Amino acid sequence: MDLHMSEDFQIVAIDGGAASGKSSTARGVAGAAHFLHVDTGSHYRAVTLRALGEGLRPVGGPALEHFLAGLRFETEVRGNCACLRLNGVVPDAADIRSDAVNAAVSAFAALPAVRKAVRTYQRDQAAVARTHGFRGLVMDGRDIGTVIFPDADLKIYLEADASTRAARRKDEGQTDTIDDRDRIDSTRATAPLAAAPDAVRIDNSNIPLGGVVEEVLRLLRQGASATGASRATEPR
Ligand code: C5P
Repeated sequence: MDLHMSEDFQIVAIDGGAASGKSSTARGVAGAAHFLHVDTGSHYRAVTLRALGEGLRPVGGPALEHFLAGLRFETEVRGNCACLRLNGVVPDAADIRSDAVNAAVSAFAALPAVRKAVRTYQRDQAAVARTHGFRGLVMDGRDIGTVIFPDADLKIYLEADASTRAARRKDEGQTDTIDDRDRIDSTRATAPLAAAPDAVRIDNSNIPLGGVVEEVLRLLRQGASATGASRATEPR
């Protein structure tokens, strides 16, 4: 596919609620455009898995601070994917999607200290992508266009109706109630799930994955997003 894209490194931010199709879209874009894909949900999941393993509850305080200070964040690039290696281990995909992690991840992700611990690592993924020769970075999450990369070249906010999202979760073999996570993620004080003012909203309830990927690639070619319109709301 001739993408007619500039040689400049580009950053695409894809945000949206649970099961909105963010990761699948980001993976598709990464494959087509030779970008590095970073799934930031996996970062919060990995931290949560480890915290639960150490018997921590999602509350701020010295125990949490001690735990976070002991975390070492590194990246293992596998194909187009940037996998988080936490304290030397890339956690098992099934483990970070367990019922226990599904139930606790939003509570841990709402803690400012947890978000601070992953923020720099996430921003550093742009340098990882460049170092590995990728033409850009596509990162999906909840606060990528608003906080992590407020100057992203393109910001997408993905939405899908409730029945479509529930069906997707079922197809993935997941049974958690995503409404609870979305409520916690949207209402937390720090970096809530939100569309950046300059994000392009795409409702993909009735668009097949390939169509959404094509649309993102088209927007990327056009430079459709008004870049730089929003600014970071959290300090680095
Ligand atoms: O994307 P995924 O559903 O795997 O994310 C799991 C959880 O991680 C979300 O429900 C949210 O609590 C948290 N998360 C976040 N900020 C991000 C990505 C994920 O708070 N950028």
